Amino acid sequence: MLGLEDKFPRYPLTFGPTPIEKLERLSRHLGGAVEIYAKREDCNSGLAFGGNKLRKLEYLVPDAMAQNCDTLVTIGGVQSNHTRQVAAVAAKLGMKCRLVQESWVNWSDAVYDRVGNIMLSRIMGAEIELVDEGFDIGIRESWEAALEDVRRAGGKPYSIPAGASDHPLGGLGFVGFAEEVRRQEAELGVTFDRIVVCSVTGSTQAGMVVGFAADGRARNVIGIDASGTPEQTHAQILRIARHTAEAVGLGRSIEAEDVVLLADYAYPAYGVPSDETVAAIRLCARMEGMMTDPVYEGKSMQGLIDLIRKGHFAAGSKVLYAHLGGVPAINGYGYLFRNG
Ligand SMILES: *Cc1c(COP(=O)(O)O)cnc(C)c1O
Repeated sequence: MLGLEDKFPRYPLTFGPTPIEKLERLSRHLGGAVEIYAKREDCNSGLAFGGNKLRKLEYLVPDAMAQNCDTLVTIGGVQSNHTRQVAAVAAKLGMKCRLVQESWVNWSDAVYDRVGNIMLSRIMGAEIELVDEGFDIGIRESWEAALEDVRRAGGKPYSIPAGASDHPLGGLGFVGFAEEVRRQEAELGVTFDRIVVCSVTGSTQAGMVVGFAADGRARNVIGIDASGTPEQTHAQILRIARHTAEAVGLGRSIEAEDVVLLADYAYPAYGVPSDETVAAIRLCARMEGMMTDPVYEGKSMQGLIDLIRKGHFAAGSKVLYAHLGGVPAINGYGYLFRNG
C-alpha cells in the first residue's frame, strides 16, 4: 500500500514474514469472548534469538554500508535486547561493534551483567563499556564519547540511538510490519480489531501507527508503556510517527490522539516486574508455552490480560499481540523464578 520496498533499500536480516498464531487456550482461559492472536517477532531471525530491532535495522544497514562505516555503535541497558541484536548484525556483516550499556535497571541478581543478552553480545565479539547512568531514552553523553573514541582510533562509526528509534529511518521497519499484517489478514480471512504492542523508545509503535493509518486504523494500535516515563515515550512515538509518515508519503497527518499509550502497567519501574507482570509471564507460559520477559513483553501481556478481564474489548474482537522478543533477558531474573 505504501510501497516501502520501492522507496527505501532494505538489507534482509530476518527470515521473512513472521507467523501469526491463535492463542486458543489463553483466549478460552480469559472467558473466550476475545480471540487472541500473536505475531511472533520473537521468532523472526536466526541472528542471536532475533527480536523487533532487526526489522528496524534492516533499513539502517544499507545507510551504514553506503557511508562505508566499519563500526556499529549503540547504547542500552545492561540487559538490552537492542544492543544484542546490533552485536549480531555487526558479526553477520563483518563489522565491529561498540556497545555502551548503562545501569538502567535497579536489579540485584548476582549474575545480571553476566548472563542473557550481555553474555551473547560478549560472545559475538562486541566491545562493551558498562556505564553507571540511570534510565533515559534520549541521547546520552556516554554514547557521544564512544563515537568519538571510535573516530580517534581511526574507525568509521555508524551511530544507532537507543532502540534504533530516534533515527530518520527508525520507523520504517514497523510500517513494513503493518503492511505485512494487512497481507496476512487477507490470506487468513480475518481482520484484527486491535493490535497490542509494548513501547519504550517508540519507533515500533510509531511505525505501526503510520502503517495502520494507511487504512484508518492508527488508533487500533494499543501501546503498553514499559518505560515508566510515558510522557517522554508518547512524545517520542508521535515525533517518530510524524517524520516517518512524511518519509513514506502517507498523505495524511498524524495527531497526538493517534498514539494510544496506556501507562498502567509499567510500575514499579522500567525493567522491574510487578507481581502482576510475573503472574502474566507464568500464565502465558503455562497456557501457551509462549515465553515473555520481565522488562517488556511480560508487561504488555499483563496489559492484554487485564484489558480483556476488564471487558475493554468488545465481545467477538480479534486482538493481535505483537510479541517483540526479549526472552534472553529473563536469565537475569533467575532468583525471581527460582520456584517457577
Ligand atoms: C525494544 C523492545 C521493545 C520496545 O520497542 P521500542 O521500539 O523501543 O518502543 C519491546 N519489547 C522488546 C522485547 C524489546 O526489545
